[in-house]
Formats: sequence, structure tokens, C-alpha cells
Amino acid sequence: MPSDVLVRSLVLPAGSRHRESLPGKGRKQAMDKPHFYSLPKLPYGYKELAPFMSEEQLQLHHEKHHQAYVTGANALLEKLEQARKAGGDLDMKATLKELSFHIGGHVLHSLFWANLAPAGKGGGGKPAGVLGAAIDKEFGGYERFQKEFTQAAVSAEGSGWAALTFCQLTNRPIVMQIEKHSVNVYPQFPILLVLDVWEHAYYLDYRNLRAKFVEAFWNIADWDAANRRLSTLLKGGVK
Ligand code: MN
Repeated sequence: MPSDVLVRSLVLPAGSRHRESLPGKGRKQAMDKPHFYSLPKLPYGYKELAPFMSEEQLQLHHEKHHQAYVTGANALLEKLEQARKAGGDLDMKATLKELSFHIGGHVLHSLFWANLAPAGKGGGGKPAGVLGAAIDKEFGGYERFQKEFTQAAVSAEGSGWAALTFCQLTNRPIVMQIEKHSVNVYPQFPILLVLDVWEHAYYLDYRNLRAKFVEAFWNIADWDAANRRLSTLLKGGVK
């Protein structure tokens, strides 16, 4: 599945009117979705985010860590299917907790790769367009947003993420701090920009210095991609 279709399907809530307005090809793909998850291809080469994210760090993260969530989620879906066929019982509490972890991991990594770009070639700079305006209005300026997002990323307990989301009830961009892959998530708030602060995301490059990694992230953050996510969402007229 092309990454833009994947991201569109991840960003937009199910049933949003935007889904109806997808062009023919996109609509067909949206209807013919595969039954299991798969690792998306990156829109850049493994070397291209250096020096902010090294080739070794990125390749390991994508090929091993992200793949593990895809494999984990698919294994649980198969386990559920088999139990249904056999009429057997599963420990639903444990199974669904694990499923939430793996699906969350897959979805967040897919969004993360799509909001990174090589420095100077889409990466870095400041948000423009509707997103830039929304950030200025909510935070009083980009610098204040960057400070709050950085604090969310640096202070995430253990393994987690910082994300910029958009509340469609109040039309506010809101920062979200996710623990693991699925704890403290605001239900149905689409993610515009996300940063992985699990140690596996930065340890080879920055050792234990997470703050250095977060600082480096701003050089490869793709604000155009984040702005496109918000524009697409707003065009969908989702209430
Ligand atoms: Mn990760």
C-alpha cells in the first residue's frame, strides 16, 4: 500500500466524509484493504536522515523494531481467528492489551516515518499553511509549541511518544504524550506529527541523551507532511 494511502487511512477517522471524496483509485484501495498489517516502505533511503538519524539506527528501527509490531499484531489476529474457528476461549484481557500494544506500535511508526524527511529536502523549518496558523493561534507562536512538544517528548516515562494531534471538537492542535504505544491516547484525535522517544529510536546515535535526539528531530521533521494531514482532515469536513 502506498504510504500516502496508508497515512490517509490512519489519520482519518472511520466514516469521515473524506473517505467518500477519495479519487477512484484511492477509494478502490480503501475498499480493498489487506486483511493483515504489513511494513510500509520508507519514502527515503536509510542514509538520508543522517547525521540526525544514522543509517544503522534507522534501518534497525524500521526493519527490526517496526517489523516486530507488524508480526506481533498479525499473530494476535490469527490467534483470535483460530480461537473463533475452534470455538475456544482466549484470555481476552491479556490478548487485547497485547493487540493494542502491537497495533499502536505499527500505526505510530507508520505515521512517524511519513513525517520525517531529509534535512533541507522537506525536513526542518517551521509549519506553514493551515497548521502554522493553527499553531500560532493555539500556542501564541511556534517557539512555545516547540517547547511544550519537546517537554512532552523528553518527559515521557519509560517508552513512549510525543504527538501533535488535532481536536475536532474545539479546533485546537493539542500535544499528546503517549506511554508505550497506546496509553494516554485521546480517542479519535488524528495525529499530525509524532516523535518516537523509545530508547530503540535513538540509543545507537545518542546513547541515553534523549534530549539531544529530540533537538535533532526538528531538523528532519516534515512540516509539509503534517500540514497536509491537517488540510486533508479539514477538507473532509469532519465534525
Ligand atoms: Mn520505535
